[in-house]
Amino acid sequence: MPAMILDGRALAKSLRASLQTDVAAFVAQYNRTPQLAVVQVEGDPASESYVRSIRKQCASAGIAFRLEQLPADVQQPAMDEVVQALSSDDSVHGILIQMPLPKALLADRVVAQLDYRKDVDGIHPMNAGLLAQGRSAFIPNTPAGGMALLQHYGIEIAGRRAAVVGRSAVVGRPMALLLVHAHATVTICHSRTPDLAAVLRECDIVAVAAGRAGLVTGDMLRPGAVVIDFGINMREDGSMVGDVDFASAVEVAGAITPVPGGTGPMTNSMLLRNVLDAARSQLSK
Ligand code: NDP
Repeated sequence: MPAMILDGRALAKSLRASLQTDVAAFVAQYNRTPQLAVVQVEGDPASESYVRSIRKQCASAGIAFRLEQLPADVQQPAMDEVVQALSSDDSVHGILIQMPLPKALLADRVVAQLDYRKDVDGIHPMNAGLLAQGRSAFIPNTPAGGMALLQHYGIEIAGRRAAVVGRSAVVGRPMALLLVHAHATVTICHSRTPDLAAVLRECDIVAVAAGRAGLVTGDMLRPGAVVIDFGINMREDGSMVGDVDFASAVEVAGAITPVPGGTGPMTNSMLLRNVLDAARSQLSK
């Protein structure tokens, strides 16, 4: 029997509806509007399209949106100053720095200017450290969305074997920590893992964030495994595929996220929820 589809598009839609209600209640209580500021260096079409989509979603949620656009040749001091100014501006509750930054800029130095209490993307080392310690933190949105899908569909995590393919600071590594916090036994795989299939076949939950189209195929999975595919890979014909070969995996897995329509739509939902949470914690002090 083919796998159950973990429908991120549908879940993100229902989360957006409840966010709208919660933002309205927040505005009524505090007489303030939560605001997200996005810092973007010009010149990356993919980033520009992403920022347009965030702006649209903020508008429909009732969250104020502010864009700080900097020229492609922006120098480090100017970039640092923009992030510092937003960090100390009380009308801004969440800050998103669009990555990757141009090579001439030191990303770590830019992130260091960010007030971690406004770090709604979970990229500040303070939030990464809090997450590693299992304390309350802003969690990177993509793995948070993957966990929300598992929770929404009632998938048992505690006591199960899980593998995460990929160890980046924004997806793989935080996903592994979140699974550990949810009491799974977790193996982190990466490009030096010698026999990926042997590891995956032992696992009940497989989360993939490698950026390699079709890396994980159905024959590498344990029958009934739950598969979370974070991969976004664009083919020459303009279509999008994940890191999991969906056609073969859907026949073996018990549940699987499609690409598109799985983890992708969840990411923005998590971001906007973080903006509201950040505003609430800043104003309730
Ligand atoms: P990175 O390139 O930073 O990390 C990729 C990871 O995959 C690395 O740890 C790398 O290992 C590992 N890897 C690469 N090839 C293999 C292989 N053959 N076998 C095992 N492991 C491998 O990517 P990101 O984490 O930023 O992104 C991963 C994917 O998730 C991309 O497709 C990206 O587009 C997507 N993504 C999706 C989002 C969403 O909203 N759904 C948001 C952000 C990203 P090593 O460390 O050894 O190099």
